[in-house]
Amino acid sequence: MKRLAVLLMAAGAAAWWWRKRSAGGDDAAGWSTPESATAPAAEPEEPPKLGGEVDPELLEILACPLDKQPVSRQGDYLVCSACQRHYPIREGIPVMLIDEALSPEQAAATPG
Ligand SMILES: [Zn+2]
Repeated sequence: MKRLAVLLMAAGAAAWWWRKRSAGGDDAAGWSTPESATAPAAEPEEPPKLGGEVDPELLEILACPLDKQPVSRQGDYLVCSACQRHYPIREGIPVMLIDEALSPEQAAATPG
């Protein structure tokens, strides 16, 4: 009987897809011609937003990749207690990369 349930679910999904597809109208037009090289210019991807909630437990185990010193949160950045590099937090995810970090000078020059 389990198999039947799976089949029913699959049928439901297919019906949903079909309804969505036929209701879409314009959306479906491009589907059959994936080769069409006239894709609209890719919109510039928005960079992830700075900030967000960081798990406090995560904060405790994070360390500066350069000198392995603990970091503390200052605004949207995690700041190394030793070298003062600022590691950005993007949508709640600390980016602990030296390349991505702001030097203390850069951080001082960044408004906000
Ligand atoms: Zn450091």
